Amino acid sequence: MTSKYETVIGLEIHAQLSTESKMFCSCSTKFGAEPNTNICEVCTGQPGALPKTNKKAIELAIKTGLALNCKIEPYSVFARKNYFYPDLPKAYQISQFDLPIITGGYLEIEVEGKKKKIKLTRIHLEEDAGKLVHKGAERIMGSEESLVDYNRGGTPLMEIVTEPDIRSPLEAKIFMEDLAHLLQYLGVCDAKMEQGSLRCDANISIRPVGQKELGTRSELKNMNSFRFVQMGLTAEVARHTELKESGEKIIQETRYFDTKTHETKSMRSKEEAHDYRYFPEPDLITVEPDKEWIEEIKTTITELPEKKKERYTKEYGLSDQAAETLISTKELSDYFESCLKIEKKPKEITNWILGDITAYLKAKNLNIKDINLPPGEVIELIKLIEKGTISGKIAKEVIVKTLNTGKTIKDIVSESGSTQISNEDELQKIVEEAIKNSPKQVEQYKSGKKAIIGYLVGQVMKASKGRANPGLANKLLKQQLD
Ligand code: ADP
Ligand code: MG
Ligand code: ZN
Repeated sequence: MTSKYETVIGLEIHAQLSTESKMFCSCSTKFGAEPNTNICEVCTGQPGALPKTNKKAIELAIKTGLALNCKIEPYSVFARKNYFYPDLPKAYQISQFDLPIITGGYLEIEVEGKKKKIKLTRIHLEEDAGKLVHKGAERIMGSEESLVDYNRGGTPLMEIVTEPDIRSPLEAKIFMEDLAHLLQYLGVCDAKMEQGSLRCDANISIRPVGQKELGTRSELKNMNSFRFVQMGLTAEVARHTELKESGEKIIQETRYFDTKTHETKSMRSKEEAHDYRYFPEPDLITVEPDKEWIEEIKTTITELPEKKKERYTKEYGLSDQAAETLISTKELSDYFESCLKIEKKPKEITNWILGDITAYLKAKNLNIKDINLPPGEVIELIKLIEKGTISGKIAKEVIVKTLNTGKTIKDIVSESGSTQISNEDELQKIVEEAIKNSPKQVEQYKSGKKAIIGYLVGQVMKASKGRANPGLANKLLKQQLD
């Protein structure tokens, strides 16, 4: 059904930068520490404490800007954004306002087979707030008491703002996934929405098809999964449409997506920029990255996912789908490439990674980076099959045993005596046994139904617990019967 309204979406994305220390002090950004242990006078806003900008955070923002085709501004300024909330001890957040470090640029996404550029407005740097923990409720409303952990306060964030170029909840979800992927590859952010290192505020409005002017928007705050981005926006499109249809006014407000009821709910009416009383941060110098440094940062950008995929299909002859899966996380493609470095067998390696290894990881709910299998072991396995030492079927068991025990492929193979039987004398006995046990099939074979040999080979395989070399079994059976 085509609607008479067009959906318009613009995203504001907060990405936690992968730095060791905080944005304006040397406290650790490490996740999971005891509450209020990674704090100091700067990130808790004590009188007289002076902030100092983390150079690494600037570097990572510039790296992102370069990868997203943006302009790196030669001159940018930090500003104080003033508001009170218990997770913000200074009662202002250091952010950037009218002069951000990065402007313009775009990310190209693919929606239902069509490529589309989503333009970016800006990327700026800021610090995160602390974390409130609400006892007995999910948010502050309705909780018995709230505790605050300032460990996260002062963590470097980069806020990426898009133009209102997105036209559907699905496009928004794809944009978020592709962006997350890119940030991971760049190594600037681990981009895990579920863990809060990537968060999204989505602005949405609708307008009659053909109208240029934007409709009144609502803003969905802090969505923490790709699926919720799409679901929340879908709920908002329905709500806006219903209001419009019934002639009611849409008010500009901030809402949140209730993941239990799948409804959006109002939080507060929308604040305006002037409410925050932005002014330049007097305690920090301006950011003026020189050209040589920017060039140097450019050289640290390694191959990005789209390029990698193209290379995998063209150079290694992998299918589109296999290449897509291998690049789906940087860890997986890194693993693939480590194997490849040892032995250039892209297809065999891909089959093991995407087949048995992936199945094992899924079953154990593990990530490839936690795996008990050095890349050299994958190659070892492939070589043992090629040499005929073990059969493909046995190899499947060997790899699981290796993964479970952490022993080497070689050890597992020799321990279990599962090497392939390629010795004629040894196999001959099993072949004779199979013939003796299958008189009916032997009869059929002799009366011309030659295809029944498959059944007999199967019997030999079974009797040898999969260790027989099937080619040799076939040969020996024929010798006996013909
Ligand atoms: P704010 O100052 O409230 O953050 P901005 O003008 O910076 O507002 O816009 C924030 C985001 O909202 C941007 O991604 C922008 O593209 C998007 N946006 C602005 N107006 C609309 C609208 N009418 N409908 C949908 N998205 C919008
Ligand atoms: Mg906003
Ligand atoms: Zn600190």
